[in-house]
Amino acid sequence: MKAIVIGSGGREHAMAWTLLQSPNVTAVVCIPGNGGTATLPGCSNLAMSVDDVEGIARFALVQNMGLVAIGPEQPLADGVADGLRAEGITVFGPDQAGAQLESSKAWAKALMQEASIPTAASAVFDNGEAATAYVEEQGAPIVIKADGLAAGKGVTVAMTLEEAKEAIAAIFGGQFGAAGSQVVIEEFLTGQEASVLAVTDGITIRPLMPAQDHKQVGEGDTGPNTGGMGAYAPTPVLPPELLDRIQTDVLEPTVQTLRKRGIDYRGVIYAGLMITPDGEPKVIEFNCRFGDPETQVVLPLLDTPLDKIMLACCEQRLDTLPPFEWKSGYAACVVMAAEGYPGKYPKGMVIKGVDVATNTGAMVFHAGTQLEKGVVKSTGGRVLGVTALGAGFEDAIANAYRGVDAIQFENAYYRKDIGHRVRAQF
Ligand code: ATP
Repeated sequence: MKAIVIGSGGREHAMAWTLLQSPNVTAVVCIPGNGGTATLPGCSNLAMSVDDVEGIARFALVQNMGLVAIGPEQPLADGVADGLRAEGITVFGPDQAGAQLESSKAWAKALMQEASIPTAASAVFDNGEAATAYVEEQGAPIVIKADGLAAGKGVTVAMTLEEAKEAIAAIFGGQFGAAGSQVVIEEFLTGQEASVLAVTDGITIRPLMPAQDHKQVGEGDTGPNTGGMGAYAPTPVLPPELLDRIQTDVLEPTVQTLRKRGIDYRGVIYAGLMITPDGEPKVIEFNCRFGDPETQVVLPLLDTPLDKIMLACCEQRLDTLPPFEWKSGYAACVVMAAEGYPGKYPKGMVIKGVDVATNTGAMVFHAGTQLEKGVVKSTGGRVLGVTALGAGFEDAIANAYRGVDAIQFENAYYRKDIGHRVRAQF
């Protein structure tokens, strides 16, 4: 079978790489892909916009592609899956209605309330005056979220009332465009964050290995939030008993409630959780796709062919698959970024040493890169995700850093403390 992966980040490189590990997958085409997918054996890039439904459909039908897997949230929120399904194409990824789990935090909160899913107490407002009055009544710390997609920038964890009011003013002042027509104001939760990526065919839902990422740019979890600076799986924060509870208290009720709303969801449901100090898991957010960088540690541990899982979801027969098989041990990923990210950063740096890193056993997933006349150059803030496996947690982390040490590009920045929360607690 030939497959299409839509997107251009580290997640999509990891998806393409994992699909190509399967004996059933002969080729992958990434739309538009990056420097990593351009140089991955068996994979090629197609320069087409991720929301060009007509173009993607035509290509998929003419080339007889057996599967289209959509990576990022924006095309899902824009209804690309709906458009491709309407052409009879097999698509892994929810329709626009299901993607509201991520594209509207107010919609997701309402679903969580209806399904009695444990989450932070919240209120939704469509104007600044009422929202400000509410935070004055609640006090700080408090969390202010623009309703729609804002590339991770629409959330303010306000430690003071002043910050909370500024965040509300920014949202209703138009900083996030239509994504800021509503605001969700949430109770501030403390604890450890963890990510559970689950796959569903709309009826059955199964979790993958739980992971943890590092959102903040600076060591010790300081500085502004990013798309993610590193990750590892499985995380000891979510032992199997707790994962079972998340299955019954979060994942199953989510799918049942989606169905009640007439939504036939086929793809990934990603639950971002806070494990509160008393051990209770609470949902912070849902995403409608694989997480990045979590995917870069979860998929390399998966032994069951990914195409088998995706097709079972698309064809609504996930219940017929035997339990997923996993490698023993751990996976860790260290993100190499361009100095300055998530603010301003330089681009166009030549990347060297990827082959040396690969020889150490690391898997180097490209994020913001491009192949230019045979040379791989940086194009984004997050440039590479260097993943390695290891028998123990510390082995995986050390192996990932060994891979990082082999790679050079100007102005490279990476966190040197990936895994520190596990080290502190276990
Ligand atoms: P991303 O797309 O980057 O995952 P997002 O914009 O969808 O993020 P959330 O995941 O809802 O936003 O929030 C971003 C971060 O803010 C969370 O990872 C968490 O660290 C923090 N956060 C969100 N909600 C709360 C809360 N209720 N209490 C404490 N911290 C929170």
